[in-house]
Amino acid sequence: MTKFIFITGGVVSGLGKGITSASLAYLLKSHGYNIAMQKFDPYLNVDPGTMSPYQHGEVYVTDDGTETDLDLGHYERFAGVRCDRHSNYTSGKIYSSVIAREREGAYLGATVQMIPHITDEIKQAIRSAAKPGIDIVMTEIGGTAGDIESLPFLEAVRQFKNEAGLGNAIVIHLTLVPYIKSVGEMKTKPSQQSVSILHNIGIFPDMLVCRTEMAMADEQRRKLSLFCNVPDEMVIEECDVQHSIYEVPQELADRGMDVKVLELLRLPLTESHLDDWHELLDRVLHPEKTCRIALVGKYAGLRDAYKSIFESFAHAGIALRTKVICDMVEAEELENDCSRLDSYDGVLVPGGFGARGIEGKVATLQYAREKGIPCLGICLGLQCMVIEYARHVLGYKDANSTEFDEKTSHPVIDLMPDQRGVSSKGGTMRLGAYPCRLVDGSRAAELYGEKDISERHRHRFEFNNDYRKQLISAGLQIGGTSPDDTLVEMVELPNHPFYVGCQFHPEFKSRPFSPHPLFVGLVQAALKHQEK
Ligand code: GLN
Repeated sequence: MTKFIFITGGVVSGLGKGITSASLAYLLKSHGYNIAMQKFDPYLNVDPGTMSPYQHGEVYVTDDGTETDLDLGHYERFAGVRCDRHSNYTSGKIYSSVIAREREGAYLGATVQMIPHITDEIKQAIRSAAKPGIDIVMTEIGGTAGDIESLPFLEAVRQFKNEAGLGNAIVIHLTLVPYIKSVGEMKTKPSQQSVSILHNIGIFPDMLVCRTEMAMADEQRRKLSLFCNVPDEMVIEECDVQHSIYEVPQELADRGMDVKVLELLRLPLTESHLDDWHELLDRVLHPEKTCRIALVGKYAGLRDAYKSIFESFAHAGIALRTKVICDMVEAEELENDCSRLDSYDGVLVPGGFGARGIEGKVATLQYAREKGIPCLGICLGLQCMVIEYARHVLGYKDANSTEFDEKTSHPVIDLMPDQRGVSSKGGTMRLGAYPCRLVDGSRAAELYGEKDISERHRHRFEFNNDYRKQLISAGLQIGGTSPDDTLVEMVELPNHPFYVGCQFHPEFKSRPFSPHPLFVGLVQAALKHQEK
């Protein structure tokens, strides 16, 4: 029988609920349990695909092409679970399916209401993750206790827990215990109040996880236990880690969180194996080399916008025992002068939408190409590589993507014919996993060590095949295409230390224990570049 864990958050957002959930999932997995993870987001967008990274950070894409919250990236990376369309539900997704069903007449005669129709839909979404073979479903509820938006989700959790029966579903509340400098004390009041909000709606958390800056005294633990109605031993402290998020699973294991959760769920306490993680942590904490990469994008200042890219560099760094320092550089600032890039060992031009920053990216790519700086272009990055090559090598001065200039005389990047004239902006992209065949003898094939790969996509525009011949004869090589050869998936330059572009997003598939070959390749080339 599948067991259920719900994770709620209190006091403030940004406590690292995603990392905590993913770390717990990793620990439970290391005990031999099969885990599924999901996230509920209380906003009304049907998915985060239409939201600016400023609102929501990166949009993470799963194999099945669902555009999801970036926490799902943590789930896949830390816990090694596979996420899909059942892994992320927003209020928008829940409401729209209920409303669509109402229009179909499925509730004929009934008044369609928050309770039971919306809450039933949410409970159904929870059950959808409990596929055969899954021992534990973990569901993270986005937002903070007390938000109006998250009420229907919490009400559904209350009902679900009650129906599941004792020991089959638990609620873990992640909360903040702040240290107030002026009085030199840690304060439990905010946590007491957020738990009392949950009590008011009928949810009695089974465990509190307290985010703290420093070790909590017994007195605070006692207070929390007393006022929050949680046994003393179920008050877990999660202190800020010193160096890296990879320390979190160990921190939680040291507090016995995994063991206590298994106890609460009445599951056998199997042995856990964390040796691999210890080895990984050792590599993170004791690198032997350092290299510096410039990430030339347009959301400089917002690291969450490129979350999976930073993580992918960390994975490559783990494999190569290298500390990869990845700085964000605002593309617009490089439009007229790229000399700042001289202080870097490598460059990454990430994906993106809209015209802002394009000229800076094109200038960056020209600089990296001509100066032999190792460079990886992802999605829009590949598209800019093609634009740059067409402009400066083929001499097509106004070459562009029709995304930025519909009237360009050389649309080297364009919509696929069946997409032209489509005005809808939601759900019209090429999304999710597609196969790619690598070209024999290419740098790409050498890096991957195999010919047929599958990578995740999120884009509307494509390499325009009308220009394939010209670009190839000017020296740009195709590294990979769709198996039927109709879509260019990778480009590269043969006489460059590392100049590779991919139309897909490799960062979504990199894992701590299996770093992505393109990131490993870039970091390796960057280390070589450093020696020069
Ligand atoms: N804006 C480009 C497109 O839609 C690239 C998208 C991306 O980089 N993810 O094709």
